[in-house]
Amino acid sequence: MSDYQPTIGLEIHAQLRTRTKMFCDSVNDSDERHPNTNVCPVCLGHPGTLPVPNRAAIENVIRVGLALGGRINGAVKFDRKNYFYPDLPKAYQISQYDRPLVEGGTLQGVRIRRVHLEEDTADLRHEGGVSLVDFNRSGVPLMELVTEPDFRDADAVAAFARELQLILRYLGVSAADMEKGQMRIEANVSLNMGTKVELKNINSFRAVRDAIEYELRRQEDVIAGGGAVSQETRGWDEAKRKTVTQRSKEEAHDYRYFPDPDLPPFDTAIFDPETLRYSLPELPAARRERFVREYSLDAQQTEALVADPDLAKFYEEAISELRSRLSAGGEAALYNYLTSDLRGLMNQAAVSFADLKISPEGLAHLAVLIELKKVTSRQAKDILAAMFRTGADPEEIVKSEGIGISENTDEIQAVVAAVVAGEKAAVDDYRKGKTASLQFLIGKGMAKLKGRARPEMLKDLFERMLREE
Ligand code: ADP
Ligand code: MG
Repeated sequence: MSDYQPTIGLEIHAQLRTRTKMFCDSVNDSDERHPNTNVCPVCLGHPGTLPVPNRAAIENVIRVGLALGGRINGAVKFDRKNYFYPDLPKAYQISQYDRPLVEGGTLQGVRIRRVHLEEDTADLRHEGGVSLVDFNRSGVPLMELVTEPDFRDADAVAAFARELQLILRYLGVSAADMEKGQMRIEANVSLNMGTKVELKNINSFRAVRDAIEYELRRQEDVIAGGGAVSQETRGWDEAKRKTVTQRSKEEAHDYRYFPDPDLPPFDTAIFDPETLRYSLPELPAARRERFVREYSLDAQQTEALVADPDLAKFYEEAISELRSRLSAGGEAALYNYLTSDLRGLMNQAAVSFADLKISPEGLAHLAVLIELKKVTSRQAKDILAAMFRTGADPEEIVKSEGIGISENTDEIQAVVAAVVAGEKAAVDDYRKGKTASLQFLIGKGMAKLKGRARPEMLKDLFERMLREE
């Protein structure tokens, strides 16, 4: 352990997934590739236009506040944060200053200071010596969450950020994809309660950890060398793998916040937070506990399901069907065929759960056939591939394609006899003591039977026949 005590606090922005923007009816579409398509005089910042708040955006921030156990403020308002930059033509951003929608709450033991609503700015692109402005993002609703400086290391920050992303996705309020800039993390980092440095330009969970770890080491070196950490904003340079100065304290803004005269204060009672509370879905933490309780899964398996709501839904429906068909067993097969084989087929064909032809009932039925040893695992893979193509029930596939384990001893006995008659050399070798030849003969028999025999049964029949002859 080093002698330095790290302190870290976060400011996290997330773009809300509403149909329209925060204060106008331009479409909010972060996938729009053609620049300046979803724009209007309001989000272009033309003088004389008037903002109209987006009800869904406000409700979404309230729902996030409720999910984190925060307090929903009654009287709230929007304020203007004044600064000039080419991505903000009206020279102020509508935000919330001293009356945020949410105050308090916790996540993973970290105290939430506040959650408020503001508008995103335009996107600046610098290409070949010119700067271009794309206003598609201008006015998109942004949630900002500020934590208390409760983190002591980079791992805790990354874990918190992942969990928050999951909660936002469960609530359906944000796609929260960091690579797409739908979720942006700024980390304030200091040592020994000294001067803090703000880290920006962090575009992935890995970068969160790397940037903070680099910055902690840098500050240690500064202090150990007898220097003082200066208050500044630093950006994470992914290529150089270090933080670099962006803005020093002298350049800090005075934003001259004041209440936006175009947007009267309002009371959140009109959004009926108590009713919103009842509409919250099961959240990741509760789902984890329930899955561990209800299903025989280990922590890693539980996490794989909790991290992917569509996968979890499919699993739960399939398990429920499995349990109605079997009093016990089949769960491990179901989990494995779902998370590895089926997932593999889906990834290969770029098929999502929404377009999947296999139903949870169909997969459960396959798990039953495997559990009852009516099909081998090799056959199960082929059946699953056929189910994936056509959506047919596994039993139908077994019938129509003539697969499945044969219980017909006469049929298998006849095949064994034919192989023994046809493979004289191998039979002789076996009799001379070359035991590996038995495996060869079993392979021939299995091929003739198209895999429809239990390997142990086949081995038994071969051994008996070779002894008798
Ligand atoms: P400022 O007044 O400089 O904006 P705030 O107290 O408003 O600072 O906090 C802004 C962010 O910085 C919050 O996320 C908070 O948790 C974090 N923070 C505050 N003090 C520290 C500190 N000493 N070290 C690291 N982060 C801090
Ligand atoms: Mg502050």
